[in-house]
Amino acid sequence: MTVRTERLYYEYTGTEGRTGTEGASLSAAPFSANILELRERDGRLALLLDRTIFYPEGGGQSGDRGSINNVPLIDVKEEGGEILHLVDHDAKLENGPALLVLDAARRRDFTVQHSGQHLLSGTIVRLLSAPTVSMHLGEEYNTIDVERGEFSTEELIAVEEAAAGVIEADFPIIIHLCPPEDLRSFPLRKTPPQGEELVRVVEIRGHDFSPCCGTHCSSTGGIGMLRVLGAEKYKGMTRVTFIAGRRVLVDSRRRRHEAETVSRALKIPVNGIAAGVLALNERSKDMEKKLSVLKNAEARREAEDLLRDAASGGLIQRLYADHDMEDVLLIGRTAQKKTAAVLLLASEPDGKFAALCSRKGVDIKALIGETCETYGVQGGGGGGFFQGLLPPAGTRQNFLDELSRKLSALSFVS
Ligand SMILES: [Zn+2]
Repeated sequence: MTVRTERLYYEYTGTEGRTGTEGASLSAAPFSANILELRERDGRLALLLDRTIFYPEGGGQSGDRGSINNVPLIDVKEEGGEILHLVDHDAKLENGPALLVLDAARRRDFTVQHSGQHLLSGTIVRLLSAPTVSMHLGEEYNTIDVERGEFSTEELIAVEEAAAGVIEADFPIIIHLCPPEDLRSFPLRKTPPQGEELVRVVEIRGHDFSPCCGTHCSSTGGIGMLRVLGAEKYKGMTRVTFIAGRRVLVDSRRRRHEAETVSRALKIPVNGIAAGVLALNERSKDMEKKLSVLKNAEARREAEDLLRDAASGGLIQRLYADHDMEDVLLIGRTAQKKTAAVLLLASEPDGKFAALCSRKGVDIKALIGETCETYGVQGGGGGGFFQGLLPPAGTRQNFLDELSRKLSALSFVS
């Protein structure tokens, strides 16, 4: 049997009797209702109530959160005209009186985001004649998909500014419950749902008319602020990401904190961060160029040093205690150009080794692959190059000695 629940979520916002000084930690007074039925639903318990203050997911707005007899509400959904209050499967709840507590701060937040979305979609239609095709209100960010190609930065700023004007004017947001035959009197922004006895039309006075079942602020001033965070191509449309209300404050605080952290770390003034970072970037590129020149010179010196060890095309082995593998490879590549000897070089700090040989037709992997396997060493390469990880300190020297033996064989073959 279908359970009919009295829907009080439009009237009840959890902010009743509040002074407005509660900040983000707004918690609502408990509300009495009765649990009429409990059902299994996808591994959860679904409660059906005689009346509810919880908004069920719909119209792009997520379902309310809160608690029923102190059991946290996981979600609220509407199915076949019934409102299902979903809680954990093992929740100790039964038929009878229940106290409902709404997460009023979250509801307030979604109400603000939803009104912000109407304002944004309406403003984009008004300024750019581009309709919103779909929308999503997220826990952190919201998006609308707009039937239009790219937006310029100037257009996005114009949209934000126009929306700010409507917020400052504090236009009433009016709810019309309207029989379908009367809908023609409204310049609706989108197609109304079919088959409803009464269609709910949300009007931002004179500015935007949209059929909608969501919760809304009583006037545009409640939106506080609307901020577009970005716009990118999406399935032939443009997806606009935005936030409204307190989320703009939180976002701005977070960005300020990041800017101050960068400012302190790089010792550049917080209001000149962009120019400061660009200048640092240039300096760092210059330094990289200089460093590369120095490293190449150093590699040439080290390579000459290595080559002095080369006994008539034999094997040259060296374990570097103070060079990372990148440097070691640079030395190896430089030396390789001047010798036919096999080079077995390793970096102590990186725990890596490489074998290099400039002679054609050499297959180092075939020579040392087995030894690497025996020592459980991972590595790879092809032809005259092989690179791998050194085994732990205890077996490291034995491993290198064995590699030397194998590679010496190669050195004297030709
Ligand atoms: Zn809506």
